[in-house]
Amino acid sequence: MRKKFVAGNWKMHGSHSANAELLSGILAARPFACDVAVCVPFPYLGEVAVALAGSDVRWGAQDCSAHEKGAYTGEVSAAMLSEFGCRYVIVGHSERRHYHGESDQLVADKAKAVLARGLTPIVCVGETLGQREQGTAHATVKRQLSAVIHALGHCVGEMVVAYEPVWAIGTGVTATPEQAQEMHSLIRAQLHAATGHADAMKILYGGSMKPENAGSLLAQQDIDGGLIGGAALKAADFVAICRAAG
Ligand code: PEP
Repeated sequence: MRKKFVAGNWKMHGSHSANAELLSGILAARPFACDVAVCVPFPYLGEVAVALAGSDVRWGAQDCSAHEKGAYTGEVSAAMLSEFGCRYVIVGHSERRHYHGESDQLVADKAKAVLARGLTPIVCVGETLGQREQGTAHATVKRQLSAVIHALGHCVGEMVVAYEPVWAIGTGVTATPEQAQEMHSLIRAQLHAATGHADAMKILYGGSMKPENAGSLLAQQDIDGGLIGGAALKAADFVAICRAAG
């Protein structure tokens, strides 16, 4: 059986005081039956590493450069994230694909750079509302995933995939458990075809997951956890989702 995994995506939120309060709320609620991580803005990695050191709550970043090092002003490498003790790096979040024009190939290159440093990429895939309405949701997700599968080669099994329908992110509209399960099982089939052992791989659902809907989503056979945005900013909500996963 796959152990569930709940990761918070803080996006561009936080402050020294808000972070301290949020992390102490999460730490106070341990132990969790699932794996737990928070993916935080770069400038807060140092303080988050200090706060979480010695606990079983992991931390990570929300993006990283596809390049190893060099003249790439403003970028942050996977090696730097490793020095801050990151375990996870989100790549290909729809906000990066949309606002920063990240292509499938760039996302795949980022995932490869993350793995090359021994960190785990959480690779986000998902269709827009228009694509779902046009009946191309599966083809879109398949294409996004294919690029990563191709780039990672024999290391495919080491990534975590997050299915995040764009129309459900930050909107309050959640995919139904059946809609999410349907896509998750297609994703697992694609991963299985590529690796032959996708049974052990984690596929998270993301998109307005909250304490109220987490239980029914997480009960689905192929939903192995959640990537949580808004609800990861309140300790009580995040902890309630972690409990639902346990
Ligand atoms: C996300 O940003 O990855 C996300 C799932 O956001 P929200 O939970 O707010 O929809």
